Amino acid sequence: MLLSLTLFLVIEWGTLSDERSKYGIASGNPFVREVVLTFDDGPRQDNMQPIIAALKPYNVYATFFLVGKFAERYGNITLMLARAGHELANHSYTHPRLYKLWVEKIMREAERCDEVLEALGLRKTRFLRPPGGHFNMKIFNAMRRMNLCMGLWSLNTADYTGRPAEEISRLVLSSVKNGDIILMHSGMPESVKALPVIIENLRERGFNFVRLEELRDNGRI
Ligand SMILES: [Zn+2]
Repeated sequence: MLLSLTLFLVIEWGTLSDERSKYGIASGNPFVREVVLTFDDGPRQDNMQPIIAALKPYNVYATFFLVGKFAERYGNITLMLARAGHELANHSYTHPRLYKLWVEKIMREAERCDEVLEALGLRKTRFLRPPGGHFNMKIFNAMRRMNLCMGLWSLNTADYTGRPAEEISRLVLSSVKNGDIILMHSGMPESVKALPVIIENLRERGFNFVRLEELRDNGRI
């Protein structure tokens, strides 16, 4: 009786977590020592190279949630990110408050971002992060129809407040746990400054850095 209940729970939990991870992910497998660095709101003309350059010596590949209209304006920078091995993900086309829009408009926002990437010869995105992280059923419905997965986060560096690099790294190093999805933003020099400390320290502690797609796949049972 106990065995069958346990088996049932394990199988059900597995099925449910697999089902859930198809539509949304906010953290990875708590038993796998890995994290994802995510950068929102790029690309901007002058602020992507420092991030690319900071990650390169460590062979760390991150996930960039791009705003479609910026990806369109700065196509060369978008290509540079993709060629550097980073994962490109969808952060809408104009960065509106998606939760205020109708389902069709939400879909259009996501599609337009994808169209920009496709025009650059890049693949369709797998993940969408709604601006501000606010979501509701309309966004979920839109994403299910588009076969997109919502990519949220579990560790917010709040780098958009302009806090210094020391504070950013201290926050990450003191609160990080297995499977964390770390939220940072493009265009934040203090975040770039914090990257070497974060990467070196977490690696010493046995963490791997993966892209969001790998984190999701590694979390599947
Ligand atoms: Zn944003």
